[in-house]
Amino acid sequence: MNLHPRPSKIVCVGRNYVAHAAEMGNEVPAEPLLFLKPPSALITAGEPILLPPDVGRVDYEGEIGVVIGRRASQISEFDAWEFVEGIAPVNDVTARDLQRKDNQWSRAKGFDTFCPVGDMVPILDVDIDSLGVVSRVNGEERQRGTIDQLVFSIPFLISHVSKIMTLEPGDLLATGTPEGVGPLSSGDVVEIEIPGLGTLTNPVVARSEA
Ligand code: MG
Repeated sequence: MNLHPRPSKIVCVGRNYVAHAAEMGNEVPAEPLLFLKPPSALITAGEPILLPPDVGRVDYEGEIGVVIGRRASQISEFDAWEFVEGIAPVNDVTARDLQRKDNQWSRAKGFDTFCPVGDMVPILDVDIDSLGVVSRVNGEERQRGTIDQLVFSIPFLISHVSKIMTLEPGDLLATGTPEGVGPLSSGDVVEIEIPGLGTLTNPVVARSEA
């Protein structure tokens, strides 16, 4: 783990791939749909994702994570990459039934262990144009997305968020998940890979067994 252990915030983007919005029965939003995950949800590679009792379906969501390296406030899309320290795989674990039930997603997205993040690769070592994300459950591929499929680009998102809230070094931006989300069960192993950069692997355990 080479990330800030407790960033000031984790900013997430919903419905940022057309095919994923469609699979959930949603339209693509006209502006980025933002929500926050609490830093207390963070875990690193190898730590278990704990399924809370009595919450119904819990899904993986593989995402390209952007780690902020410099304080960013009111920045332009053109300058945005200068504020990025690196890229890391993120799993935006989601209690899907609670997300449907609640009008906002703090509970569904905010349980302890619901934000696994892998090692960050410094941005200078990243081929930005070929970024993508692949998710596997028990070795079987479930999601595959590429950066050109994003509804709102990474520089646009950084600029947009920075006009709402100041981004601090270590803050994490999760850029949305491609189609193919699905449920996790106790005993599963879920992998989120950023091809060419690295893979985040976490076991899944029912909380009562942990
Ligand atoms: Mg997500």
